Amino acid sequence: SGGQDGEVGKAQRAANEAGTEATIFSRIIARTVPATILYEDEECLVFRDVAPQAPVHFLVIPKRPIPRLSRVGPQDAQLLGHLMVVAARTAQAEGLSDGYRLVINDGKHGAQSVYHLHLHVLGGRQMNWPPG
Ligand code: C5P
Repeated sequence: SGGQDGEVGKAQRAANEAGTEATIFSRIIARTVPATILYEDEECLVFRDVAPQAPVHFLVIPKRPIPRLSRVGPQDAQLLGHLMVVAARTAQAEGLSDGYRLVINDGKHGAQSVYHLHLHVLGGRQMNWPPG
């Protein structure tokens, strides 16, 4: 929502504030902020994006609050693989048989706004390339 400039501005402000505090996603995991949850296991949570950019738009997040993709290390490889497998399985469950887009925004230039690693899955319409 808010158009591309609004989203980028929000992301840049978040980058400036990106510290070690818990994000809104920690509160979604703790169920103190509501979300439409599609899947959960010990390692991850999947919920619908509150501002969908496609007919189907959900997020896959690790329960462990890794802030961003550029902070991961080799010890995270298994978890990251798991997130992608869950993304694909949930996309199938959501009926995205014609394909979908997987996105990870990292940092300021990636327009990341929430500093808790998340995979976006977008589908249900034709995606364009390149993204903005
Ligand atoms: O990748 P980026 O950090 O920009 O994306 C954050 C996403 O989290 C946005 O798509 C936003 O709509 C979503 N969000 C959400 N529920 C919240 C807060 C943000 O789905 N309570």
